[in-house]
Amino acid sequence: MRVPFVAGNWKMNKTIEEARSLVSSMSAGLRAVAGVEKVLCPPFMSLQTVAALLEGSDIGLGAQNMHWEEKGAFTGEVSPAMVRELCRYVILGHSERRTYFGDTDETVNKKIRAAQAFDLTPILCVGETLDEYESNKTAGVVARQIRLGLAGVTPEFVARLVIAYEPIWAIGTGKASSGGNADKVVANVIRAALSELFGTPAAQAVRVLYGGSVTAANASEFFSQPEIDGALVGGASLKSDEFIAITQAAARP
Ligand code: PEP
Repeated sequence: MRVPFVAGNWKMNKTIEEARSLVSSMSAGLRAVAGVEKVLCPPFMSLQTVAALLEGSDIGLGAQNMHWEEKGAFTGEVSPAMVRELCRYVILGHSERRTYFGDTDETVNKKIRAAQAFDLTPILCVGETLDEYESNKTAGVVARQIRLGLAGVTPEFVARLVIAYEPIWAIGTGKASSGGNADKVVANVIRAALSELFGTPAAQAVRVLYGGSVTAANASEFFSQPEIDGALVGGASLKSDEFIAITQAAARP
């Protein structure tokens, strides 16, 4: 039985003071939800503050990106060792990183391997553009992102990572995929590729999330799908009532 998983990706939002106030407004509500792995991913600047606020709670902390090298002359970057000091999780390969900051399947793979080496749980994001969706290329694109992104990692590591299927056309647009469409991609493309690469037990153990305009109003449509284990939430994770309600919806009845 896969434990449901909900992560909030704050993106480049909230100053340290604003982060403090957002966490204070949502932490009691989140802590009250049992049986769901809950993770907040604020910007790097707020990680230490949020880590202190979450100490002793069952709410995990994640970074939104990292470099793959342990240290060195990489101005402006943050290393896996630094992330690991505060976080258990790290979002890797988010489409905004791929689109605006040049992340490729190859660099995402280096980061995934670094996560393995530093005992971090990656939330690996995959998903197709609107053009690719409309020209029926979803399966090819997503299978390639899985195959190249996870090259060279062990089945044991794969079994504990988290994958987020995020169709790019649904991110921040208010136009979510249907639950049925997302479930088909997760079953027929993501779990199928994982199974081929790492074996069925590992493929069945991986938590696969849906991401893209998830709200409190549509969350259950995704969580009721057999192959979807939770959500990666952007905009709605900045509103405490919404994010708490999404997390509650993820709990198994
Ligand atoms: C995201 O940033 O991963 C995301 C899914 O954003 P939103 O929920 O705002 O579409």
